[in-house]
Amino acid sequence: MSMDVTFLGTGAAYPSPTRGASAVVLRCEGECWLFDCGEGTQTQLMKSQLKAGRITKIFITHLHGDHFFGLPGLLCTISLQSGSMVSKQPIEIYGPVGLRDFIWRTMELSHTELVFRYVVHELVPTADQCPAEELKEFAHVNRAGSLPKEEQGRTILLDSEENSYLLFDDEQFVVKAFRLFHRIPSFGFSVVEKKRPGKLNAQKLKDLGVPPGPAYGKLKNGISVVLENGVTISPQDVLKKPIVGRKICILGDCSGVVGDGGVKLCFEADLLIHEATLDDAQMDKAKEHGHSTPQMAATFAKLCRAKRLVLTHFSQRIRRNVMKRWTRRIDDSMTIALLEY
Ligand SMILES: [Zn+2]
Ligand SMILES: [Zn+2]
Repeated sequence: MSMDVTFLGTGAAYPSPTRGASAVVLRCEGECWLFDCGEGTQTQLMKSQLKAGRITKIFITHLHGDHFFGLPGLLCTISLQSGSMVSKQPIEIYGPVGLRDFIWRTMELSHTELVFRYVVHELVPTADQCPAEELKEFAHVNRAGSLPKEEQGRTILLDSEENSYLLFDDEQFVVKAFRLFHRIPSFGFSVVEKKRPGKLNAQKLKDLGVPPGPAYGKLKNGISVVLENGVTISPQDVLKKPIVGRKICILGDCSGVVGDGGVKLCFEADLLIHEATLDDAQMDKAKEHGHSTPQMAATFAKLCRAKRLVLTHFSQRIRRNVMKRWTRRIDDSMTIALLEY
């Protein structure tokens, strides 16, 4: 299964003509999952090879504007461009408490009628994810019902034993969130692909006399077949080793993790995407503002034994050549990492 990651925006605070605000797309078999949606994400999408209409899930790390102000515009454009091609499945949106009301309010005020269904699942942060003076209890707006296309989402609480939030667990993936420390509560997401059956061993199939055709498909799907001569062939006789799933972890703004959920979920990640807003010389300032530097990101990646670290969320003052130097110093990958078998 092909999987690739596209950085639509790597800039902190605001988009500039040369660097978009935070947005990363993880694409698996043509389906796009968007992580953060800073202002201008939709125009960045138009410049890329990706199609906004292929977005099925959206994950928002935290409610600072540079991570989600692009969301209402993007949803409206997807709706306008959908025409009659409306997916049967609703777009699933995950993010901190407050996001559901934000989307509802912007759609309501702008008299927007989305043509597709959507659902917002909210993560409930804990008080230790930000300085005490920044913590706000969200007073829910006085909603006059829900929008026609909005479905009832879940409110997801911390699993205190695992120190994480279970977003979903389906046939292909397990996606969880973990807590980060920032100026306001922020989250990281871990996407874990499940183990898949190995490929068919052509030589063994030939040796055992399995005729090409439907029997191949059955064996590949884990079903035994009986040959004309009465011999039963089990999948394990002809399948190569199962294919280990990949792990991709994407962190929101942070100066560190809260609890051990982050280290556990990012352990041996194939790809770890971490913010690095300021230079190492400004580490104190970075920490004071709830941000990281390349060294801080690398220390976390090392602790998790991540296989590849990619930095993002650079201060708009950081020039491109400095970003390149950072990237080279930490890892030889550039800002786009292709993960393909
Ligand atoms: Zn930010
Ligand atoms: Zn932030």
